[in-house]
Amino acid sequence: QTHRFFGSTEAVYAGTRGIDIAERLSEQVSTRDSVKIWLETTAVAIYEEKTVGVWRASDDQYLLIKPEILLVATGARERSLPFKGNTLPGIYGAGAFQTLVNRDLVRPARNLFIIGGGNVGLIAGYHALQAGINVVGLVEALPKCGGYKVHEDKLARFNVPILTSHTILEAKGKDHVQSVIVAKVDDQFHPIQGTEREIPCDCVLIAVGLNPVDEFISKAKEVGLPVHAAGDAAEIAEASAAMFSGKIAGLEIAQVLGVDAPEIPKSWRDFESILKSRPGEIFKLDSGVLQGDVFPIMHCRQEIPCDPCASVCPNNLIHIDAADIRHLPEFCPEAGKNCIACERCVAICPGLAITLVDYRRDKDNPTVSIPMEFAEHYLEKGNVVAVTDVEGHVLGQFPVLRTRTIKPYTHTLVVRVQVPAEIAVEVAGIRLIAGWNQPMKTEDNFVEETDQENIVCRCEHISADQIRQLIREGVRDINQLKAATKATMGACGGKTCLSLIRKIFREEGVPLEEVTDPPQRPVFVEVPLEILARNRQEAD
Ligand code: SF4
Ligand code: SF4
Repeated sequence: QTHRFFGSTEAVYAGTRGIDIAERLSEQVSTRDSVKIWLETTAVAIYEEKTVGVWRASDDQYLLIKPEILLVATGARERSLPFKGNTLPGIYGAGAFQTLVNRDLVRPARNLFIIGGGNVGLIAGYHALQAGINVVGLVEALPKCGGYKVHEDKLARFNVPILTSHTILEAKGKDHVQSVIVAKVDDQFHPIQGTEREIPCDCVLIAVGLNPVDEFISKAKEVGLPVHAAGDAAEIAEASAAMFSGKIAGLEIAQVLGVDAPEIPKSWRDFESILKSRPGEIFKLDSGVLQGDVFPIMHCRQEIPCDPCASVCPNNLIHIDAADIRHLPEFCPEAGKNCIACERCVAICPGLAITLVDYRRDKDNPTVSIPMEFAEHYLEKGNVVAVTDVEGHVLGQFPVLRTRTIKPYTHTLVVRVQVPAEIAVEVAGIRLIAGWNQPMKTEDNFVEETDQENIVCRCEHISADQIRQLIREGVRDINQLKAATKATMGACGGKTCLSLIRKIFREEGVPLEEVTDPPQRPVFVEVPLEILARNRQEAD
């Protein structure tokens, strides 16, 4: 991940970009002699003998390991969504889209439409904007986005239409997605007839949540292999919570193994649940707290577990309740200790939610420093830029006086603009307009009628209608659905479609307690048969 992480700076490196945290963690592990790291190696199965089957691609070995304890930190996989046309080229899961844009530096679209207003969808939307992709809209079925408001605000500043209480009905196109049909939903999430509308786009990103990759956990429990879990494999939460749950799991395992390890403090458990908490209440900015000639404004007004701004101030002027870092940050100037306008708080904030207002040179036309994560050439000194408030309303066009990056907060530009005093405290962002949020050309909007299906099992090409029909005929056993349709029997082993099939049962009013799940059999990951056969021969 290329964005700065939320959470606690002290405990989980909040304020540092995900890719840099990954490097630090991997360094910590690789410098320990006691830890053997096998790269290019995949755990593929757990067997009744309490062994873990591991395929080591580096030397093409299949190994059976008998651990005393297993720690599963396999993360999560994306949920999919059945809708008509959902297998058209141009429709991506958020992970694939972000890999293309952030790692491979490929721009797979000009006009992106997003399904899902959780953190993944909101962050992917901002990554798309950073890559110069126009985000034509985002639908969220709930009445409000489930992700952090600071992420939503980043999209609002670029005028991305966020349609809450809306869903996608269909993706249209012949060889490639050309538009989507969306509609409002009622409080039961059923589309409301007559509210449909078509939005042209050439790419759709599905970000409708994650499922834990937990088949290793359940199989280990089934065969009696002691197992611990950490991160999203145990419970879907923010990355900071995943790291902290890993620390706890490590200590738990050390204790079980009889290593002389300290007790896990209760405060750690409490802190873990704070890091896992959902975004909380949204408060209005109290302008009474803005004092002095120069001060930061925290436009982050929602309770989220985050504290980098409080840890970075050289004069310790930004306070967050250390006992509960979900509380809002406050600027607390003290006698003899004023803000020195170092702009570090502006640069470190993962939500790009802090501005610094400076009246010292010109009381009537103060400067406002604004964080932006865009290439420098978009924001050069002398440019006139559209400045917005936190909700994305344009407040006017104002000149850029200076841009800079502050070590070690690279890739975050701190852009200083000069604005009239009466709007200075409202300024929260800049809307770059060149190339972004331009409507698609009319000739792109023509979409032929096509006969697309609503696919649930992509491997075996089984539609939601086929599954629904069998459920209506009385099928309550997923094994029977498998036998009748081959759904869940493809290469992925049901990793995508199984949860969609359960969803269809729920939509049809069938409680999941009445539904028989299929057994989980190893292997859980595709592996060439030859590899397993070779191992068997060796064992013989
Ligand atoms: S600009 Fe620097 S001194 Fe002022 S509040 Fe932010 S971190 Fe502290
Ligand atoms: S203002 Fe502080 S608490 Fe809020 S997102 Fe930024 S760094 Fe985190």
